[in-house]
Amino acid sequence: CGVFGVIGQAEAANFVALGLHALQHRGQEAGGIVSHDPEQGFNSARRFGYVRDNFTKASLMETLPGPLAIGHVRYSTAGKKGAVIRDVQPFFGEFAMGGAAIAHNGNITNAAALRKELIQHGSIFQSSSDSECIIHLMARSFQKNIPERMKDALRRVEGAFSIVAMTRTKLIGVRDALGVRPLVLGKIGDTGWALSSETCALDIIGAEFVREIEPGEMVVITAEGVESHRPFAPAKPRFCIFEHVYFSRPDSIVGGQSIYETRRQIGVELARECPVDADIVCPVPDSGTPAAIGYSQESGIPYAMGIIRNQYTGRTFIEPTESIRNMGVLLKLNVNRALIKGKRVILVDDSVVRGTTSRKIKEMILDAGAAEVHFRIASPPTMWPCFYGVDTPERDKLLAANMNEEEMRAHLGVDSLRFISLDGLYRAAGEAKGRNNDYPQYCDACFSGEYPVEPADMIAQGFEI
Ligand code: 5GP
Ligand code: SF4
Ligand code: MG
Repeated sequence: CGVFGVIGQAEAANFVALGLHALQHRGQEAGGIVSHDPEQGFNSARRFGYVRDNFTKASLMETLPGPLAIGHVRYSTAGKKGAVIRDVQPFFGEFAMGGAAIAHNGNITNAAALRKELIQHGSIFQSSSDSECIIHLMARSFQKNIPERMKDALRRVEGAFSIVAMTRTKLIGVRDALGVRPLVLGKIGDTGWALSSETCALDIIGAEFVREIEPGEMVVITAEGVESHRPFAPAKPRFCIFEHVYFSRPDSIVGGQSIYETRRQIGVELARECPVDADIVCPVPDSGTPAAIGYSQESGIPYAMGIIRNQYTGRTFIEPTESIRNMGVLLKLNVNRALIKGKRVILVDDSVVRGTTSRKIKEMILDAGAAEVHFRIASPPTMWPCFYGVDTPERDKLLAANMNEEEMRAHLGVDSLRFISLDGLYRAAGEAKGRNNDYPQYCDACFSGEYPVEPADMIAQGFEI
């Protein structure tokens, strides 16, 4: 998901709509905005579909007045399939001291246990979302102001969270102690501030990137400026390495390096680790493009657009059902036949999850008369589900959890299939010595099975790690 917030700008909701539009790649199912106006109080609008189809209408935006607003773009993660509007964020509630609204990116790994406890104590839930727990925990806290109540609440929450929240007068940003999901701070002109999942959404509103919110940090922003708090016990950061591979937009900056450059470097590493003789290097667009450029540059094999992407379809993986996802590949990608015919083709994609995309693409490429097909994948085999906010399927649906590399190659029906090593991926992400196996610098649980936060709810349901 993507989160965005603005304070200190007239009609803040308009800025939030633009920010959410730039974060649309993080979630395409639905979006929502909550604003606050001194006269009209809190207002909220939540809609299915793209930001541009909803939050551009004057009639809707007029209902979201005020100098303070937050928003969310959603894609549902494991266990919450089937979209219902009551699960669309931001969540907002009035309680002591005026109440608050929150937008959450990540996943709370002990939400089921918390929810049960809260319901037993009288909380009235409006949604099935894990994120709603935070509002109820805040409402039940005895602290004397909302940021302190939020600290109370978040100390009970386990898992990954980057949160943008608001009271009647404050914009609040928080990252969990490991900093699994991104969150950045921007300055708008002389008076305004923005919080965003990624820097690309600051650019769209002309905000200046100030800095990342640090893992374990809470910022409280008012007209007076930005206050920094440290509510959690210090921990070694474990940013999601898959943000580098796929999730973030290539024009965003993380840790001082552009995501594009990291992905290009992944391609360079991949060409060194897994060379093959061929005529052209083609990306599976768009997610494989920067890595294919890097592969081509390092190998000297020409880059070519062997697959053309229809720009009017969304991200396949994020489609919530299997049948739509199957269709999605054909709706989205088509082979550039004239180019492919008779060629030995290296196809570069970011990941193999279920293998659906790769199988379809292989069929299209062979159908177009390719002489050979070699898959090169910009991440290690995805063997484990993510419990921190990325929608990977259960283990039995993950190709790499059930087959070794040769079996996967045979299943996909390609001439060769190779994945970047975990060390290679770490090097591309700026860790010159690769992965520190004693204290890994990133979360890489979907590749390694080493979960930095125990997925308590899943373990209670019998999941084995
Ligand atoms: P598959 O078809 O193998 O199930 O999915 C792989 C494709 O889904 C890749 O092309 C990748 O770009 C895309 N993808 C989209 N979202 C995700 C995600 O959250 N996790 C992973 N691993 N791949 C994703
Ligand atoms: Fe990211 Fe994978 Fe960790 Fe999930 S399990 S947070 S996708 S690295
Ligand atoms: Mg892709």
